[in-house]
Amino acid sequence: MKVLVGVKRVVDYNVRIRVKPDGSGVLTDGVKMSMNPFDEIAVEEAIRLRERGVATELVAVSIGPQAVQEQLRTALAMGMDRAIHVDTAEALQPLEVAQVFKALAEQEQAQIVLLGKQAIDDDANQTGQMLAALWERPQATFASAIEINGNTARVTREVDAGLEVIEVDLPAVITTDLRLNEPRYVKLPEMMKAKKKPLDVKPAAELLGAGTPRLQLGTVRPPAARGAGIKVKSVEELVAELQNRGLI
Ligand code: AMP
Repeated sequence: MKVLVGVKRVVDYNVRIRVKPDGSGVLTDGVKMSMNPFDEIAVEEAIRLRERGVATELVAVSIGPQAVQEQLRTALAMGMDRAIHVDTAEALQPLEVAQVFKALAEQEQAQIVLLGKQAIDDDANQTGQMLAALWERPQATFASAIEINGNTARVTREVDAGLEVIEVDLPAVITTDLRLNEPRYVKLPEMMKAKKKPLDVKPAAELLGAGTPRLQLGTVRPPAARGAGIKVKSVEELVAELQNRGLI
């Protein structure tokens, strides 16, 4: 069983995001970039599926400029078998990313496409769902447990009311939630070995579907600065202050 895993390069979650002065996006020059945390969970889960004897070939896919190969090498060092870099200088929108994954899922005859529930840069949470629609296959989003039995996946989903268990026929799209697993650390020797694993480059234009991008970015603004707090000396003073501000 072949598993395709999405690996997006994003600003590292520890970095304090700074917005460009002209409001056209966030600054990325000289900023630490990493694999999207939900994608690290997807890579880990794919490796565990192989360790359990379910998956046989694991392919990491990243769409973006040459620099995304850094994250693909990390995925290979974690244990993925091979990688595909879908080359584009443009930042593709979720619908276009879904088109690329659909084309690859068909070319590769993938049984599972494992994506993050969202990329932490744009927080779109759209790609998995759009891919399922385009590919005309089932989706199991926000997975916190995955069990494969023959041609079906039994997926526990994190929903508002608690946990929901669904079964989907394969091939299917599964998106990962935070509690699915804890990704392994990569050791230096594995990083060295990963350099020898296959990494193919394909131009995005070969895989994109028809249609023009539908989203237009307006402006990006940083959150309003928070005012300084005050210190109170007693509970009475705290209550009086809260009353003053109309909060109680
Ligand atoms: P989004 O819908 O943008 O929040 O992204 C959801 C998931 O789609 C991510 O966690 C990735 O698994 C996948 N994805 C989105 N953009 C890319 C990309 N440029 N390269 C690889 N995977 C991506």
